[in-house]
Amino acid sequence: MMTALIALVVTYLIGVALWPYARCRACRGARTSRGSNGARWGICSRCGGSGERIRFGARLFRKNL
Ligand SMILES: [Zn+2]
Repeated sequence: MMTALIALVVTYLIGVALWPYARCRACRGARTSRGSNGARWGICSRCGGSGERIRFGARLFRKNL
């Protein structure tokens, strides 16, 4: 049981070290705020228009984020 948990954590940490960015939850990587359409749209305030968010575990490796 404990071994499985450790394996899971290690897998997660390796994944986060390789891919520290994930798609923004608010805009789902679209970079525009929800409710945007062709006529009116705004930059997503959550990610600032990058469409990315930093995964929680990535902060362990990159302190400046
Ligand atoms: Zn966003």
